[in-house]
Amino acid sequence: MESNREPGSPQRRVVIVGGGMAGTRLAQQLVVSAGEATLEVTVIGEEQHPAYNRVLLAEVLAGRYAPEVIALPVPAPAAGTGAGVRRLSGVRVVRVDRPTAEVLCDDGRRVPYDALVLATGSNPVLPPLRGLFEPDGRDDLQALPDGVHAFRTMDDCLALGAAVRPGTRAVVIGGGLLGVSAARALAQRGAQVVLAHQGEHLMERQLDPGASRLLRRHMAALGVEVHTECRARGLRTDGRAVHAVELADGYALEADLVVLACGVRPRVGLARAAGLEVARGIVVDDELRTRDPRVFAIGDCAEHDGVVYGLAGAAQEQADVLARLLSPTPPLPEPRGLRPWPPTGAPPRTPLLNRRRGWIFATRAPVPSPA
Ligand SMILES: Cc1cc2nc3c(=O)[nH]c(=O)nc-3n(C[C@H](O)[C@H](O)[C@H](O)COP(=O)(O)OP(=O)(O)OC[C@H]3O[C@@H](n4cnc5c(N)ncnc54)[C@H](O)[C@@H]3O)c2cc1C
Repeated sequence: MESNREPGSPQRRVVIVGGGMAGTRLAQQLVVSAGEATLEVTVIGEEQHPAYNRVLLAEVLAGRYAPEVIALPVPAPAAGTGAGVRRLSGVRVVRVDRPTAEVLCDDGRRVPYDALVLATGSNPVLPPLRGLFEPDGRDDLQALPDGVHAFRTMDDCLALGAAVRPGTRAVVIGGGLLGVSAARALAQRGAQVVLAHQGEHLMERQLDPGASRLLRRHMAALGVEVHTECRARGLRTDGRAVHAVELADGYALEADLVVLACGVRPRVGLARAAGLEVARGIVVDDELRTRDPRVFAIGDCAEHDGVVYGLAGAAQEQADVLARLLSPTPPLPEPRGLRPWPPTGAPPRTPLLNRRRGWIFATRAPVPSPA
């Protein structure tokens, strides 16, 4: 974004789609760094809840934290700054209209932007299980049989928490980070938990076989029955509610509750429909910019240098980098010794994410001004 605006010119409007970890962090950083420059940040999020730390959802499910404990700090401009921030909760953006530079919301609202940031996160992957969807063919999260849950949002967590009782028979499908977290939390609530994992080791993306064995022992000590190299093939329902999970080897696990923890997929529908480049995620350059110079993507939905990180730390770093790029004031001073200051007379440079080389610098490229 350009840093100097004529008095009386329109405010700089940054619209962030997605009020999750990346979007909220970006809003916080932007309003803090706005200084006296005018900046209007709008965060549009479809979840009704105040922004929260998704990484701690399992602690809420386990009953260790109340939902409000994991709330993220509300972005608030310091007194005397020219920044304003508003959050539209329970509002879903349904279309990006790039020619008019507006987003369209499901409540009919149109929100204009000078810079648009897509921070739409991920969706849970729904595995191809027989019986997962109603015969009417709907294949979304709203159409799951009773007792079957994903584990991504606060609503998922509260619904699971309301359904679990001591002795509930729960089957968690998927032994990655999410599945292990869900199984552990349900066991701590007194459920009889079976964790069915298709791979050889639990959390194989994060752990080597030795560490995975330790984790398995820990899960067993919590009372979780772990099955590896175990493929779920289908669900048995009474037409409405689930009562068993069928395995590929012919066995069936009785279940009152099933958690689908089979990975996530970047939410790219808005970007694709808007004609932006999408591979696995929304393709961005070293400045987190899509091919449209006014549109950026950060967090789980973004693909940088061929990588979709899917991690909270990366989402927050990307938010910090983008805040520097979009900040109407010059970038904040760098921590001493980490990054060299540009030579005198050189254009301002901004730290950017680069997978292979870590942090690098690039010349700050402005976002076009509003017409
Ligand atoms: C249970 C759990 C445990 C995890 N544990 C870890 C961990 O230990 N370490 C780690 O690094 N990562 C962990 N993660 C992953 C981490 O939470 C994500 O990487 C992080 O939340 C990504 O942030 P984000 O803002 O990109 O996406 P999200 O936090 O998912 O936020 C995206 C938001 O955008 C909203 N949205 C999407 N489309 C629209 C639209 N069209 N209109 C309006 N709003 C929209 C969504 O509703 C959502 O609120 C975990 C995730 C889960 C679910």
